[in-house]
Amino acid sequence: MAFELEALPYASNALEPHIDKETMEIHHDRHHQAYVDNLNKAIAGTDAENLSLEEINKNISKYPAAVRNNGGGHFNHKLFWTVLSANGGGEPTGELADAINQAFGSFSELKTQLQNAGATRFGSGWAWLVVKADGQLAVTSTPNQDNPLMDVAEVQGAPILGIDVWEHAYYLKYQNKRPAYLDAIFNVIDWNAVAKRYQEAK
Ligand code: MN
Repeated sequence: MAFELEALPYASNALEPHIDKETMEIHHDRHHQAYVDNLNKAIAGTDAENLSLEEINKNISKYPAAVRNNGGGHFNHKLFWTVLSANGGGEPTGELADAINQAFGSFSELKTQLQNAGATRFGSGWAWLVVKADGQLAVTSTPNQDNPLMDVAEVQGAPILGIDVWEHAYYLKYQNKRPAYLDAIFNVIDWNAVAKRYQEAK
């Protein structure tokens, strides 16, 4: 069964002024669509056609680069749209807040670590908040369209928040100022969505 691109869960201008409409449209309608189309081409006629996107990512070392790049690209963007919201921002509460305080000391320290992970990722990639196999939270980053689900990732775990630091995610509005984008995006992170993922992952 072929993978399909789902519609954005909100209007393309919903995250303005932090992420602009044109960036969202190009990012979702063209970049994400291309990952989906190229993943379908890469797995056509192979056993991966019968696997879930998660299973493909978890066993990515078995597959050629086109599956890694586009299977990662599809998974990462699917996650990305759902952890952003016009009603986002602020700080997490409840069990997720407790886990963050335990792992990082404070929410502010988590934010600093995520922003550093994104800012220091050379070239294109992602910054992540993950739940490791032992249930602990960790911040990590991956190059290109890799992610922490992949069996090739340096730090493996269940990603509960991903921040896209490819230039296509911010260049129209922020040009070369990746740190400014990494500040702005915290106004639209949906911590309720991240908390839901935390509950499922832990
Ligand atoms: Mn992207």
